[in-house]
Amino acid sequence: MSWFELDHTHDAGARCWVEGADGHESFPVQNLPLGLFSDGDSGPRVGVAIGGFVLDVAGLVDTGLLPDLDYLTYMVHERLNELLALGSLTRRALRHSLFALLTDRRHEAAVTPFLSPVVEVDLHLPCEVGDYTDFYAGIHHATKVGKLFRPDNPLLPNYRHVPIGYHGRASSVVLSGTPVKRPMGQLPGADGPRFGPTERLDLELELGVWIGPGNSLGCPVPIAEAAEHVAGFCLLNDWSARDVQAWEYQPLGPFLAKNFQTSVSPWILTPEALAPFRGPAFARGAEDPAPLPYLLDAEDQAHGGLRLELGVWLQTRAMREAGIPETRLSAGGTDALYWTVQQMVAHHTVGGCNLMPGDLFGTGTVSGEAAGTEGSLLELTEGGKRPLALPNGETRTFLQDGDRLRISATARREGFAAIGFGDCVGEIIA
Ligand code: MN
Repeated sequence: MSWFELDHTHDAGARCWVEGADGHESFPVQNLPLGLFSDGDSGPRVGVAIGGFVLDVAGLVDTGLLPDLDYLTYMVHERLNELLALGSLTRRALRHSLFALLTDRRHEAAVTPFLSPVVEVDLHLPCEVGDYTDFYAGIHHATKVGKLFRPDNPLLPNYRHVPIGYHGRASSVVLSGTPVKRPMGQLPGADGPRFGPTERLDLELELGVWIGPGNSLGCPVPIAEAAEHVAGFCLLNDWSARDVQAWEYQPLGPFLAKNFQTSVSPWILTPEALAPFRGPAFARGAEDPAPLPYLLDAEDQAHGGLRLELGVWLQTRAMREAGIPETRLSAGGTDALYWTVQQMVAHHTVGGCNLMPGDLFGTGTVSGEAAGTEGSLLELTEGGKRPLALPNGETRTFLQDGDRLRISATARREGFAAIGFGDCVGEIIA
């Protein structure tokens, strides 16, 4: 089966016996995302989100309720790297087995003991992240940010030929909900740099990509096989200190401006769950060059894109204290990604670099072309020149202490059950 094909687990009419799962805004039975959780005395183990519950997959395996998957017993504890390394056949088998258990009421009594309300468990970073790479595939983001720095030459000439990225810092990738400590750093000034807390703390709304099977050093992944190396997707916020970035980024790119913290959402949405929401790769204009052959594949061009609705939400401390709900700053979509995830995998490895199971990619900030679809405050406020007005009369250029920022993604298509990514949140602290 290819990575974008549909089967009975995508049927919008499927009914799940778990209370509240049918029609759940993020986690109906058509989603079944993977995560790592713990409760009380036992250590982290693999779970699947279903409605407002976590299903203890490790527990199901241990008690023989997933007989065809008993080899997972050795792989589903402490971290998901080993499970992701098994690739799409195992992932699909697990999805199909869980779907069968959760849609057949005859299994309710046996499976119910393995369900816990998600609010009663601790969620963990799903993988031990060995390496983290951040791309720059949001072409409208690249253009708008480029315009702020280089009004005459916004998009550098290499952009449409080569997927741009930088090697990020894996040690500071954290789970959604971890507070974001405002970083100190060198801030540019007219009389030279000064040292202090960043005054231009920003978000970057990105899709995260979890790598499954790796490749050996010196053995590039061909574009036609790249999808097999992608285990799933999450939300990723690449928090950025814009003043630090402006001063340090030349000539080697981002460094301390982005290595203080990167937040990811807890659930890994599998390629199988997202199959109905595939679409063509970015529609290149007549003036755009064709991708070089190692980045070009007919299947990837036809199905390699993802169609997700994205959002950025803010609640300031004053709003929270006044009981004012979060307000939406932006509403965009992943159709703004110039490169597909498969092209990122092919490019990352083409020189021989080896990817490892549990490695993490960021797509780069996803911003639309229109106003109100931007994935960063840098763009929303035009570099801090146009403050945003909030519902309680406050304004924002960049993030202030006490601000609670949330990014969201939903996959929606006529005739299919909508599925969501869950939250990726962070509150700014001094
Ligand atoms: Mn980024």
